[in-house]
Amino acid sequence: MPKSLQPQTRAIRGQMDQTDYREHSTPLFLTSSFTFDSAEAMAETFAGQREGIIYSRYNNPSVDELIRKACALEGTEAGFATASGMAAVFASLAALVEAGDHIVATRALFGSTHQLLTNVLPKWGVTFTYVEPDQPESWAAAVRPNTKLFVTETPSNPGLKLVDLAAAGKLCKEHGLLFIVDNCFATPVLQRPADFGADLITHSATKWMDGQGRVLGGLLLGTQVVMDKVTTFCRHTGPAMSPFNAWVISKSLETLHLRMKAHCAAALEMAEWLRKQAAITQVHYPFLESHAQYELARRQMTAGGGLVTFELAGGIAAAQRLLNALEVCTRSSNLGDTRTILTHPATTTHSKLSSEERASVGISDGLIRMSVGLEAVVDIQEDLLRGLSY
Ligand SMILES: *Cc1c(COP(=O)(O)O)cnc(C)c1O
Repeated sequence: MPKSLQPQTRAIRGQMDQTDYREHSTPLFLTSSFTFDSAEAMAETFAGQREGIIYSRYNNPSVDELIRKACALEGTEAGFATASGMAAVFASLAALVEAGDHIVATRALFGSTHQLLTNVLPKWGVTFTYVEPDQPESWAAAVRPNTKLFVTETPSNPGLKLVDLAAAGKLCKEHGLLFIVDNCFATPVLQRPADFGADLITHSATKWMDGQGRVLGGLLLGTQVVMDKVTTFCRHTGPAMSPFNAWVISKSLETLHLRMKAHCAAALEMAEWLRKQAAITQVHYPFLESHAQYELARRQMTAGGGLVTFELAGGIAAAQRLLNALEVCTRSSNLGDTRTILTHPATTTHSKLSSEERASVGISDGLIRMSVGLEAVVDIQEDLLRGLSY
């Protein structure tokens, strides 16, 4: 294949070599291990002197195909696929820190990532400091001599605050920090952190990458140097993705560009419509001019994403009334699906935080997170009206 192909073409055409059966669609290699022609070939493969696949905890053709396509999309050199997004996030931290190291992270991280920083890594003597995602001028003050990583996520969940990736890249370069970005919400279609100097990108492929709410998956994508460390860690600790899930997600990447375009167009239309509803006091969407970081959003993202959040004047009661009135959209905690999903963070995903902690990350009692699907926008609007007009 020509080397100059666009990422979206490589996500379609980057499939593994055809087998002797000359299948058109990519095959599924549902096998735990692989065989060798001779004892010598086996020895050489184990010694790394010969190309070959040994065991699916290390690699597998279906999983490798997904990794190659994801690398083409993110513009990274190497990757590893994991069973879930959290397995990827955990490996990204655990593989790169040692006892005594310190992490600087932007506040408002995914809930389980917050758990890793606060409850898991401290057991091994790794500490962290939170900085405000929208105040890059304050970040350098948090860096210590033992700071190893800068960890961030943009747009954030569910506040949809943005982190200036160019500023983060600059900070990491100046202080010699490894730069890690959870790019789950934006996907490489909307932003490529590697272009801003990110060393390692993590994904929950469960979300927009699968895009149809079927399987769990995670990805670690980065520079060869960093991925060498991360891959060794993963091969021996065992978070490998199932070949079946890799096959599903690899097929889904063929339509990622098309789907994200449609999700973003529908989300923008929904955001503008929500602003006109009397029961709603505020709408958060990166590509609305009213978003506090609209300029930054236009600079580092090609579209605003598939998530919209909004605040209901009536607090918890109004939020629950809206969710209970839905007949088309779904009440669920997932996101990144063809089906529109509504969540009430204060009583579900973020219910374990105190109300002060929730306020500090922008989660009011009346906040609703909506993952906009691919249904006709008019049907989503009419569904929401059932619970908004009373
Ligand atoms: C869902 C999610 C994760 C975790 O992914 P799983 O596949 O559920 O393990 C991590 N980061 C972000 C931003 C997410 O939305």
